[in-house]
Amino acid sequence: MLQVNEEARLDALRQLNLLDTPPSESFDRITRMASQIFGLPIAAVSLTDQDRQWFKSRVGVEHSSIPRDKAPCAAVAESSAPLLIPDLLADECYAESILAGQGVRFYAGAPLITRDGFGLGALCVLGVEPRDASSAEMSALNDLAQIVMSQIELQHAFGRVDPLSGLPNRTQFLEDLEDLGRDQPGERRLAVLVDLASSEQLNHGTHVMGSAYIDDIVKTAARSVRSTLGAARTAYHVAATQFAFLAPPGTDERSYARLLGDALEDARRATGGQFIVTTVIGVAPFTTGETPPADILRTAHSAAHDARRSQTHIMFYSSKNDRQHRRRFNLLADFRAALSRPGELRLVFQPRIELSTGRCSGAEALLRWQHPELGNVPPGEFVPIIEQTSLARPATAWVLDTALGHLIEMRGRGVDFRLSVNVSASNLEQTDFAQHVQLLLLKHRLRPDMLELEITESAVMENAGEALSQLNALAEAGIQLAIDDFGTGYSSLAYLQRLPAHVVKIDQSFVRTLVESEREQSLVRSMITLSHDLDYRVVGEGVETEATGLLLAEMGCDEAQGYFYARPMEVADFEIWYQARLLDGGGVKRAA
Ligand code: C2E
Ligand code: MG
Ligand code: MG
Repeated sequence: MLQVNEEARLDALRQLNLLDTPPSESFDRITRMASQIFGLPIAAVSLTDQDRQWFKSRVGVEHSSIPRDKAPCAAVAESSAPLLIPDLLADECYAESILAGQGVRFYAGAPLITRDGFGLGALCVLGVEPRDASSAEMSALNDLAQIVMSQIELQHAFGRVDPLSGLPNRTQFLEDLEDLGRDQPGERRLAVLVDLASSEQLNHGTHVMGSAYIDDIVKTAARSVRSTLGAARTAYHVAATQFAFLAPPGTDERSYARLLGDALEDARRATGGQFIVTTVIGVAPFTTGETPPADILRTAHSAAHDARRSQTHIMFYSSKNDRQHRRRFNLLADFRAALSRPGELRLVFQPRIELSTGRCSGAEALLRWQHPELGNVPPGEFVPIIEQTSLARPATAWVLDTALGHLIEMRGRGVDFRLSVNVSASNLEQTDFAQHVQLLLLKHRLRPDMLELEITESAVMENAGEALSQLNALAEAGIQLAIDDFGTGYSSLAYLQRLPAHVVKIDQSFVRTLVESEREQSLVRSMITLSHDLDYRVVGEGVETEATGLLLAEMGCDEAQGYFYARPMEVADFEIWYQARLLDGGGVKRAA
């Protein structure tokens, strides 16, 4: 038992990270005061390590430590009680001690006890003459020992408490989880992360109301979390607008989710809709002593991230979602790097065929990414991720510049066609996007009508105002515009009528089952008719069979693109394909 206690005591001492730190005036001041009260030349703050007494502060002593064996301070630490030895030589325990051997006769020590009751060492005074100590002297020594402890705990708390909420911070949370793992290993527990607001809400809130506004929200929320948990449990302030705590041991996951839901509802009512923030909760189950603390926090974050998109605003950790988040996160970081590293990104070209003649009427540039570790990452995976970030701009800039570079080079060899490039919704929010495209055309000395930009209908809908003015500017400059994936959004043709586009590309999903499905046939037929009424050329995407091509041609569709004619090709292969097709007089696979 004593052994176990000693281990815990040593652990408590080491956690304070005090051993072997340099002297500090805040402790020396107290030591000096102790020596003055007793009128004695020697005093020390002495900490009891495994086999030594180490002095955090000392007056009148030269060494920084003495062996623990037979040191009176060690007895004070072990018993957590004051000790008075009027004459060491007359004391049977200490007559043979090292101190006595060095000529020390008098010893008085008051224990340094942590809040958890561990004796760390002693504040002691020593004299070279035997003497007694009054009760006033001893009680002053005890008071000073307590001041030493406050000093120690204050120093320890510094950097562990959030100044705004007064709650222990992330460092403390991780340390407490570490302790829990050591003290009560193998328990199934739940970590709860409360995330007050999304980053957009925070940005918006700070922007409109100033940062004091966010501070207010955080303070109110801290109070509410603290009162929900009660005094016996700890809430942690783990990030600017995030709190964490542990559910009580043995909590049932389902009922706990309900409980949290109610608490969330209460909190919402308490703030009375005063704040435009959406608080969400992520819950991460873990096993004490097995799951590393950093992982507990990370998985709780991942759950909170999922919660932000859920209806209930409370989610339990899902490893599948977490893997996806991590992959998305890594792809984003890696794509940023890929933009400035040659060789990872490249374009492939897929021809577009004029159905009435079988001629190649143009090609679409499609982005390919050869990731150094993951291999080929399909654009269907990475494009939607980067489109949500500021990377969409440099990405489109790279594609445009590269595509136009290929185009002008091939023109020099007599390969002449219009090239289509996909652009993202956020490109159309760039107020200088049209200008940027025109500058690139000038740089490559290309006519504007050699370039077609493909925009999905949802991209235009997302940001109708600015998007429309950019599209108008592009169209006025003579650049062709195509509406991509047509039929998958919700825009009405009446709205599309306002777009200065020239081409409508009917989405693959309608074309794939065209031959079998009468419903698709009538849909596509009316899309073509309506588009022609609005003066658009119509392209069918994803044509995989001859029958589909023939059917589209019969419906009056102008052009087609798909594996049946050609898959997306490396640029050099496309050039060979194009030349061969010219020699062949138009169409190897004439579709009409
Ligand atoms: P999208 O613009 O609609 O491009 C057509 C997609 O259909 C391409 O997929 C193409 O390879 C594929 N495809 C063509 N013919 C057929 C066919 O007969 N059958 C089938 N099953 N598929 C066919 P890809 O290259 O994987 O690109 C997927 C999407 O990623 C594109 O759809 C586009 O939205 C986006 N994307 C690709 N490159 C870029 C780019 O440079 N910039 C931007 N913003 N988006 C891009
Ligand atoms: Mg496209
Ligand atoms: Mg498409």
